[in-house]
Order: sequence, then C-alpha cells, then structure tokens
Amino acid sequence: SAGRDRYIQKTKTVCTYCGVGCSFDVWTKDRQLLKVEPGQGHANGISTCVKGKFGWDYVNSGERLTKPLIREATGFREASWAEALDLVASRLESIKAAHGPDALAFVASSKSTNEEIFLVQKFARQVIGTNNVDNCSRYCQSPATKGLSQTVGIGGDSGTIHDIEQATLVVTVGSNTAESHPVLATRIKRAQKLNGQQVIVFDLREHEMARRANQFIRPKPGTDFVWASALAKFILDNDLEDKAFLQERVNGLDEYRESIADYTLAYAAAETGIPEATLEALARQIAAEERVCILWAMGVTQQCGGSDTSAALSNLLLVTGNYGRTGTGAYPLRGHNNVQGAGDMGAMPDQVSGYQKITDPLAIQRHEREWGITLRPEKGLDNTEMMDAALEGTLKGLWISGEEMSLTDANVNHLAKGFEALDFLVVQDLYFTNTARYADVVLPAAASLEKEGTFTSTERRIQRLYRVMEPLKGTKPDWEIYQAVAQRLGTNWAYTHPSDIMTEIARLTPSWVGVTYERLEGYRSLCWPVKEDGTDTPLLYTDRFHFPDGKAKLHPATYKPRQQAPSAEYDLHLNSGRMLEHFHEGNMTFQVPGIVSKAPDTFVEVSRELAAERGIQSGQWVRLVSPQGSVKVRALVTGRVQANELYLPMNARHAEAAVNRLTGSQGDSQTNTPAYKDTSVRMELLPEVGDN
Ligand code: SF4
Repeated sequence: SAGRDRYIQKTKTVCTYCGVGCSFDVWTKDRQLLKVEPGQGHANGISTCVKGKFGWDYVNSGERLTKPLIREATGFREASWAEALDLVASRLESIKAAHGPDALAFVASSKSTNEEIFLVQKFARQVIGTNNVDNCSRYCQSPATKGLSQTVGIGGDSGTIHDIEQATLVVTVGSNTAESHPVLATRIKRAQKLNGQQVIVFDLREHEMARRANQFIRPKPGTDFVWASALAKFILDNDLEDKAFLQERVNGLDEYRESIADYTLAYAAAETGIPEATLEALARQIAAEERVCILWAMGVTQQCGGSDTSAALSNLLLVTGNYGRTGTGAYPLRGHNNVQGAGDMGAMPDQVSGYQKITDPLAIQRHEREWGITLRPEKGLDNTEMMDAALEGTLKGLWISGEEMSLTDANVNHLAKGFEALDFLVVQDLYFTNTARYADVVLPAAASLEKEGTFTSTERRIQRLYRVMEPLKGTKPDWEIYQAVAQRLGTNWAYTHPSDIMTEIARLTPSWVGVTYERLEGYRSLCWPVKEDGTDTPLLYTDRFHFPDGKAKLHPATYKPRQQAPSAEYDLHLNSGRMLEHFHEGNMTFQVPGIVSKAPDTFVEVSRELAAERGIQSGQWVRLVSPQGSVKVRALVTGRVQANELYLPMNARHAEAAVNRLTGSQGDSQTNTPAYKDTSVRMELLPEVGDN
C-alpha cells in the first residue's frame, strides 16, 4: 500500500543477470534501491558479483517506456493500453484469417518468468494454433540441450554447483566462467584452493580462469570435438575406460567406437594444435580422476558442430563413468537468468513444457484435456527460420518479448531486411530498443523487480521472486499483457496471479508435477524433476538415464569443421563473448551509471604480436570488416589473446559496434544456432587516435 511504501522494505528476489541464479534480499524505500544482500539460497552465500550487487538502477532509468507506442506514417505516437492491445489482437486475428496460423510467430524472453514464458507458448499453440515459438537459447545453449538429449536424455546440468565443488577435476571448455558466471567461478576457485580440486581450462583466450587453472590449453578455434573424441578413443584403446559403468549403464559402445576410429592422437594433434603428449596425459588424467565435471558454454555451442561437440563431451564422461555421482557430470552453463526456464516451459517449436515432444501421445492427451485443442504434430519455425520465412514472405507477423534480436542474432544486416519485410511486428520491452525501431506496436513491460514469478537457474533450480516494487506506472508484467490479448481473442484465460499459472504448469508437465508456490516459499527452491510429493532431484542419473530402458547412449560422432576459416581477404579469426560488467547486448547494464563509469564502452582485443606487426596501439580506432558488414571500435592491446586472434565483447554500447554486424548466417547443423564464433575479419587502421 502507499502507506507502507514510505518505509524501508526488504524483499527476496532472484538475480536477473546470469544463469547462476543467485538469490538475495533487496532493501528499498519506495522505488529507491538501498542495498542488495546475498541470501540464503543454495547458489549463493559468498557474494554477488558486480552485476548482482550494483546492476539494478536500470529499473529506474529515465529511458524506461511508460506508454505503448503505435507506428504511424510519420513515426511513433503514444497510445493507451486499450488501443494498443486492441490493435495487436485485431492484427493477429486478421493475419491468421488471411494467411493461416503459421503466418504468425512468437519469441519468448529468457528474462521473463517461467509463468510468462509458459503463456507465450500457450498463446501460440492454443490461441493462434501454431508451433512457431522459440526463445533465445537458440542463440546459445540449444546445441548443448541437443547433445545431452542424445546421450543422457535431459538437456540440463547433471547436478548443482555443490556437485561441481565436489569434483576432483573440473574441465571447462569455451567458458569465460569468471566473467560470465562469476559466483560459480568463485566456488570453483574456492574448491581449488581448499580441496585441491584440479582445473583444466580449454579456451582461445587467457582469461582469469585460464590463468588460475592447473592447466590451460589453447586448441585451434572450433576443434573441441576432435580432442574430446581422440581422448575417448585413447581411453578405450588403452583399457582405461570404466568397464562396469559402460556394461551396466550405457548402450551403443560398438557403433561409437567405430565412429571415432580415425581420431588418433596424431590426427587430433594436427587438427587441434595440442601436442600429442599433452593429449595422452589428459586422457590418462581424466580416466584416472575420481570425479570429473565438464562445464561448457558458448565457445562450444556457437559453432557449426555445437551439438556434435556437446555430445562428444558427454560421450567422454560416459566412457569414464562420470555421471550419476556427486562431483561428476555435464554442465552447460546457461547465460540468461531464465534461459533454462525458457526451454523448460516449452517455448520451442517442437516441444511443449518439460521437453515433451509435440508428437508424444500422452502430451497430446494432456493438452487436449487442459486447453481443448489438439497439438499440431508439425515442428514450427525456430528463430533463424522465422527470419528466413519473413524474407520469403510466408511469415507476416511476429511478437518479440524482451529480446534484442536486432543486435543479438547473427548477421544483423540480413535480419533487418527480415524485420522490414514483416506486415506486423510487436516488440515488448523495458526500453525503446534497437529492435523496437522496426516495430508496429511497442508495449512497455514491467521489470523483474516489479513482479512475482519463478526463474530456473542453470542447476535446474526453480526459485521464486517477490515483488520488490510496484510496476512503474504505465508498464505491465508480460503475463498480464498476453492474457489481455488472449481475452480479446475470445479465450477464457482468467489468471489472477502467477501462482495460478504454475498450477497449470504442474498439471501439464510431468517433471514439474510437484512444483507449488508453497514449496518455493521464501528461500526454498526445487530442482526439477519434482515428484508429486515435492521430492526434487538436485543430482540426475543416480540410478537411471532418461531413456525408456534407463541406459545412456554413446552418440556416434561427426566432426563439422568451421566454415569461415581465415582467408587471404579476411585474415584474422574473430572471437566474441562477455565482459564482466555488462550483460549481453548491454540494454540493461548500459543504463547503470556505476557500471558505465567502470566499463564505458566496448573494444577489440588485439594480441601483442599482431599489434607490433601492424603498429597498433591501445585506444586506436580500427575498422573490422567481414563479408557481412563492418564495425568501428577501439583496439586494446593485451596478452589475453594470441597471434591472429581478435576478441570483441558482445556488449556494445552503440549498435554501430555490435559484433553481429560481422557474424555470418552459418549455424549448428542440428539446431540452427548461429556459429557466432566461426567468423573471420580483416582489420583496417583508422587515422584518428584518441577521443571520439
Ligand atoms: Fe547475478 Fe550471475 Fe552475478 Fe549471481 S553470478 S549475482 S546470478 S550475474
């Protein structure tokens, strides 16, 4: 109430930045944020990182949208909510009537709550009748989900951060853990110091974790599949595998063995650049260690063979018996706070909530009963296919919630043409984003601090967030917006609180059947699968893998080398990733003055060798040019990168410096995830040095 608002309040919430899922108490006075204190949640208790502690002022940014906007011939004008929602409903209805349900598509936000994401896919499937729904895991961890589904059956982390701490060996691959998942990295550093945990880092760049690792290995870009398969082959050829585990718990050994027959250490050394002796020592160490976890991120997944490499890493864990015990398993680290939840909630073109296939007879039955519709069996469009369909003219309307697609998708110049080709685009966000520039209607959304709901962290941990402050005047939580349009389109949706939505999720989702708000009260949390009696599953595969016969499957291997290797014209490999202070494209963190003063803008990292060869100094402006486009950015000469390797953080303050002006349209062969890391450029020195 207004009276209470005058006093200082303490409210529990969950971080909206990375997938570690730190939960904490926020102290406020009205809308003023006084302090953020780490809570008693499982993922925290040590600290929050700079984003979790200081990254919240964006909720009070003067840039927040507070009125819906409607495009007119001359530009945008402000509109009432009623007018904007009527327009959205009538345009969706008329496009469906003229072109059928598949002329419409929906992109859910991985920053929204589970309840909201669930409603996006319900809206697509029940109200419109299309499977054209996706989320931003298409840009990051869909390949990991795929590789794990093929080998162990569940596309999520095998255990929790606590389990990672128990490992005797942690291997990270293509993960800048200290900057991307800071509090998780702190846990690893602590285990390394206190328990003698060994840490091996595979990456292109010598970041903080690489410097702290017991061993830092720099394979050639895009070759992780090769060393992982070669280690597995060496282990099998030399009788170092976990025979009992393979015998009792794993299928497909013969076929797998055959598929990796060519991956000798000599071949792997030539392909990856890792010396043969190092590979042999690694194979022996991984086979001998008591408990091994492998953690990976975008360096693995954003490649042409992201799914295959994810399967290869999982195969290596299976061969060495590293699943089903604490301290073992596969950990694809989730980027957004709720990207795990976005997949869990069925914002995917071929699955409904809980990874139930749209063709699964039981799922069809459940949804028929609950929603009164038959799920259509044909897979819908994923994000990448949506933009192709827009260009081809078969997709007419798109509704994007909280995703800055025009900066975060690959090859954004191509994407812009897709947006322009649409008849109708709705963008729902906190700010007037770059993507909003293409919209016909822009809807102002409420921020996570302003609403209730749940998020799911990288550990599959479901946690509640409570409302820290009222939604900024003029904004609405996503779930209320979807419901308002669904009602205009003749449904009987009547949710009064996100907990009503959770009740429906639990009814429709076998792996969430025991999830209730009561069981998530305060700092309590649950790791799915959750049984009806509320028992959760922090550690997976203790007695069975998620396949009908309970056994895992070794997945036969196929190597997909990169497509954009450096050439005479584009002679430098361009890698990309995060910087600690900023988050993704930076729409939230560049609204936080404290963060901006520390990390005001982006830069491209240039190796000392390359800088000396070309006469480049830190601070100098350079232009990077790829076949897709160009960006102008300052150089930073550093020892973190080597030779002809460049690194451009994806967190650009200005759209002109967005790395995705450079990335191409090639992607992972199984999931269409853009191969962002498979990019080559040339670098041109620009004359002026110094200030803007
Ligand atoms: Fe937030 Fe991730 Fe930092 Fe934790 S580690 S405070 S979840 S950004």
